[in-house]
Amino acid sequence: MGQPMKAFRLTQWQKPPQLVEMEIPTPAYGQVLIKVAGAGLCHSDIGMMGMPEAMGRMAGWNMPFTLGHEVGGWIAQLGAGVRGLAVGDPVVLVSAHSCGHCHYCMSGHDNSCVETHSGRGYGRDGGLAEYMLVDNARAVIKLNTLDPRDAGPLSDAGATAYHAVRRVLPKLVPGSSAVVIGAGGLGSFAIQFLRVLSPARVIAVDNNPARRALALEFGAHEVLAGVDERTTAALKEITGGAGAEAVLDFVGNDISLEQGMPAVRSTGSFALVGAGGGTLNKNLWGYLPKDGELFSFQGGSIRDLREVIALVEAGLVRNETEHFPFSKVEEAYKRLDEGTLRGRAVVTPDIWL
Ligand SMILES: [Zn+2]
Ligand SMILES: [Zn+2]
Repeated sequence: MGQPMKAFRLTQWQKPPQLVEMEIPTPAYGQVLIKVAGAGLCHSDIGMMGMPEAMGRMAGWNMPFTLGHEVGGWIAQLGAGVRGLAVGDPVVLVSAHSCGHCHYCMSGHDNSCVETHSGRGYGRDGGLAEYMLVDNARAVIKLNTLDPRDAGPLSDAGATAYHAVRRVLPKLVPGSSAVVIGAGGLGSFAIQFLRVLSPARVIAVDNNPARRALALEFGAHEVLAGVDERTTAALKEITGGAGAEAVLDFVGNDISLEQGMPAVRSTGSFALVGAGGGTLNKNLWGYLPKDGELFSFQGGSIRDLREVIALVEAGLVRNETEHFPFSKVEEAYKRLDEGTLRGRAVVTPDIWL
C-alpha cells in the first residue's frame, strides 16, 4: 500500500471534478514519478468537465482520471532503465502523450502520434495532484533556469502557439504582416514568438481591451477590436489592400473563420488553432487565398517545447502566470472561465503541504 496523496479528478461524466485522496503511484520500468510543482489550467479542461460520455469513449477515455495537462515539477523517483535524469531535477512534461515508435514519432511529428487522442490530464492521470506518473521518459524535459512552478503552460499554450508560428516563418519576410486572432493564452505567446523570430508586422485582433493592451505590451505593432463583420476589411486596409502573409486564428468560431480566411493574401497561410468549433459555409473557389495554404491545430511537438523553453530561459519571451494553492483550484477554474486572469492560472500542489 503506497502513501496517500491529493488529486483533482473527474470521477463521472458531466459531473464536477473532485479533490480526492489516492495512492502515490510507483514508477515501473521506463517510467518516471514527478513531484508536481505547478499544473496550468486550460480551457479544454472546462470542456472535459461537461463532455458527454459517448464523446469521451470515442476518444478512448475512461473515468476516473486526474485533470491537468500542463505540468512542471521535480523528479521524485525513476523507474528502472531511465537514463539521463536524476532525482530532484526540475522538469517540464511534453503535454501530449506519444508512443515513440509510430510513423509520426519516428519522423519528429510526435504531436500527431497515433496515441495522442488521450494524454496526461485527458483520459489518463494528469498533474493536478501532488505526484504524477509519466509512462514514458521521452516526455520529460529538463529545465536549466526556469522555475518548474511556471513551466507547465509552456508545454501546451506555449508549444501549440509556437508550432503554428514556426510553420509560417518562411513566409514572414521583411515587409510582411502576420495577424493573430485572439490574444488570450495562446495568442499572447504567438505575438511574442512572431516578434522574436520574424521581421513581420504583427497585428492582434481581440474584443477584450485588457488583452489588446497586453498584446501591445508583448510587442504587437497594431491591435484591432473584433472579430466582427468589419474585420476582413480592416485587416486589408492595414496591409495595403493585399492581406496578410499569415493569419493565425486562435478563436476558431464561425466569425473568425469567415473574416480571417479572406484576410490572407495570395500564397499566404491560414492556421486554424482555436477550438471554437466554427463552421464555414462558403464557396471555397475565390474564398481561399490563391495558391495559399490552410492548416489545422495539432498541438506542439517535443522539439517545439524544447525551443519554447530555450526562448523563455534566454529572456526573449515572457511567461505570465498566476499561482493558486491546491485548495483554490475551483476558484482558479472560475476565474479562467470568466476570463479575468491576466496570465495562465497555475495550481501549485506543493504549497498545500
Ligand atoms: Zn490545453
Ligand atoms: Zn507515436
